[in-house]
Amino acid sequence: MEESGPRGGYPPDYARDEIPTISGYPGGQTAPTPQAIDFTPGHLLGCASGELGLCRFLEDRGHTLVVTSDKEGADSTLDRELPETDVVISQSFWAAYLTPERIAAGSRLKLAITAGIGSDHVDLPTAIAHGMTVAEVTFSNSISVSEHAVTQILTLVHNYMSAHEWVTTKKGWNIADAVSRAYDLEGIDVGVVGSGRIGQAVLRRLKPFDVTLHYCDVHQPGKEFEEEPELTWHPDPRWLASSVAVLSIHTPLHPQTQNLFNDELIGAMGRGSYIVNTARALIVNRDSVVLALNSGQLAGYAGDVRYPQPPPPDHPWPTMPYEAMTPHVSGSALSAQARYAADTREILECWLDGRPIRPEYLIVEGGGLAGTGASSYTVAG
Ligand code: NAD
Repeated sequence: MEESGPRGGYPPDYARDEIPTISGYPGGQTAPTPQAIDFTPGHLLGCASGELGLCRFLEDRGHTLVVTSDKEGADSTLDRELPETDVVISQSFWAAYLTPERIAAGSRLKLAITAGIGSDHVDLPTAIAHGMTVAEVTFSNSISVSEHAVTQILTLVHNYMSAHEWVTTKKGWNIADAVSRAYDLEGIDVGVVGSGRIGQAVLRRLKPFDVTLHYCDVHQPGKEFEEEPELTWHPDPRWLASSVAVLSIHTPLHPQTQNLFNDELIGAMGRGSYIVNTARALIVNRDSVVLALNSGQLAGYAGDVRYPQPPPPDHPWPTMPYEAMTPHVSGSALSAQARYAADTREILECWLDGRPIRPEYLIVEGGGLAGTGASSYTVAG
């Protein structure tokens, strides 16, 4: 679970009194349908002290909920609790890496839930061999991430960070400095790798900017997408990379995508391209990104994911030029927290009551990839 709580304390008043109620998503999937919730939507739920609003529900049913952000080192709370644990709920932002060793140590472990989207922190082949179910809360924060990715695309291309810095820390009014790397997005070729829930939402949001849109996915595009005349599908990421100046990454991390954006693929892009990666850090080669920003091959890099999370103090990305990264927050707006907390409860209710978990939430079940896992992931070997 993410760090224990806000360092400045819980807000006495939240910035907004309520969040919109979202009842469904593009394609018809409904928003979470737990039997009840014990939290206020719009409040901080994703940090350890927020407990995803699950404590009362689980304790009322006679279960023990241990909430911790202590997950590293030989004597971490996570490692101490694992032998007695049936279910691990983790967030990608502060991932409890379920390695083969940890799964072996968790002999009772039956279910791993991601309170968010992305199950790469679970060693899926070992989870399959162990007979576990792995589930995530598909769509809970997909739109949140798509909004963040579009924000970061605009931030990079318009050189917003540098302009902001001129009037804040540098206390200047240096218009020429501020605009010497600033462009409009209009007319530029923009692409996404992975046109699933987030990738499609990014494409839809970018359309009104009068850009030329491209995308790449291992699966044939759906009928609705085939009929979009402004979209170009590339079956190979290399073709996509050489066709666009702005590329946003939205595939899961799995054997086919790990280290996909290395020197070669970044080198296939035109000089002065931009990459936004809100998917997973290991999809790009850490050092290739630094090299490309320093050489000018990339004009900017943004996103919110690092490896590991939290990253070590000597991670090179905070000091590389032309980056506009945030911590891993794109899927954790307060609006999204309400949904992933409710979704997590829905999965737990189903599992505890012996009812099926929605297929769209499943990554692994019954000894193999299942549901969304079967269409979006691969496992090595
Ligand atoms: P999704 O399952 O709806 O879509 C993933 C798409 O990637 C699928 O269409 C799949 O076919 C495609 N794909 C898989 N392997 C590919 C490959 N080798 N080449 C091209 N396409 C490939 O998932 P989603 O909801 O869109 O989420 C995508 C990923 O975004 C998640 O797995 C997660 O890692 C990441 N994510 C990050 C945050 C965040 O806070 N930064 C939040 C949510 C999700």
